[in-house]
Amino acid sequence: METTPVPTRALATEAVHAGRDDLARQGLHAPPIDLSTTYPSYDSRAEAARIDAFAATGADPDGPPVYGRLGNPTVARFETALARLEGTESAVAFASGMAALSAVLLVRASMGLRHVVAVRPLYGCSDHLLTAGLLGSEVTWTDPAGIADALRPDTGLVMVESPANPTLAEVDLRAVAHACGTVPLLADNTFATPVLQRPAQQGARLVLHSATKYLGGHGDVMAGVVACDEEFAGRLRQVRFATGGVLHPLAGYLLLRGLSTLPVRVHAASATAAELARRLAADPRVARVHYPRIGGAMIAFEVHGDPHEVIANVRLITPAVSLGSVDTLIQHPASISHRIVDADDRRNAGVSEGLLRMSVGLEDVEDLWADLDGALGVTSLRGAGNCATSDRAPAPAIRH
Ligand SMILES: *Cc1c(COP(=O)(O)O)cnc(C)c1O
Repeated sequence: METTPVPTRALATEAVHAGRDDLARQGLHAPPIDLSTTYPSYDSRAEAARIDAFAATGADPDGPPVYGRLGNPTVARFETALARLEGTESAVAFASGMAALSAVLLVRASMGLRHVVAVRPLYGCSDHLLTAGLLGSEVTWTDPAGIADALRPDTGLVMVESPANPTLAEVDLRAVAHACGTVPLLADNTFATPVLQRPAQQGARLVLHSATKYLGGHGDVMAGVVACDEEFAGRLRQVRFATGGVLHPLAGYLLLRGLSTLPVRVHAASATAAELARRLAADPRVARVHYPRIGGAMIAFEVHGDPHEVIANVRLITPAVSLGSVDTLIQHPASISHRIVDADDRRNAGVSEGLLRMSVGLEDVEDLWADLDGALGVTSLRGAGNCATSDRAPAPAIRH
């Protein structure tokens, strides 16, 4: 789609223009949505050659994609834009974040590299996919300092999240990438987004997003994407073609639209989140606040009282799993997002029973605080009977 190289532009400019650079010359403003599942051609010799080329390299076919499972021009615009934002050669979009991670594991397994080294916590279903070995992989869990020792000849992937879901624990991506040696490092960048962190510049070969979250940004599209070099992207496209986890073109359109406001949304929500984290840390009903050094719109906090009561008593904030939407969402990871992880593994990863995870949206900070204050007020009342020391709890501090 984009044939001429584009000069380096600031992230805010890329967010609005990447993947759309050809439109004005075509007399278009909004990108077209191509809903075709198949692409007619009277030249089946040429089609055979294009299919052979795809089978050899996985490169996006020149011209129409032959069939919808090989590619889609609207989805390709989103992929182009996300690659520009993450600073990678390419990006490959999938039907969900889990479909994207599955494709990465299948690429490596197809090369005989079934062993994965991973650092907890990860998103609950990523943890489950690895632990259960659903795709034939075998996982070794370790901390960042143990990565180098955990590598084996058949290790195909090292996987980390930073900040991690749900505790917001951070890892030093540059140090981890160094420890990986020649094994590809996959960094799940869903929480930070390229606005706050570009893992490929710190040595991650693969940058994964649940695009369902901040990239879409409005809670109305499920998608996943892997930003990486073109060689790995080709393999991912071949797996996507063979296994079918493609992204719908309408979702591609919505994601491209979401990217245009990504920097503005992330900066605004982060400013509100930083202020809410500060107020929570000073609140005697709150035992501990986790807020990342790099900032962001996610807060995790532990309450002295019953976390289920906080969920039950929010009125403005939406009590729901997922994150990254324009509205503020809160959930209890031990009950929902990380329920599928074994209880001991969950606790060892820092996902305590008292932990709540909040995705801060674009509402006014005072309205959000009033809602949180009301919901926490109930926990302190209910908690008073169970937890007589809650009033005299040690002064809470923000944990980075
Ligand atoms: C939600 C999430 C995923 C999974 O993405 P889906 O789009 O729900 O399949 C993966 N990683 C992280 C960090 C997530 O928050």
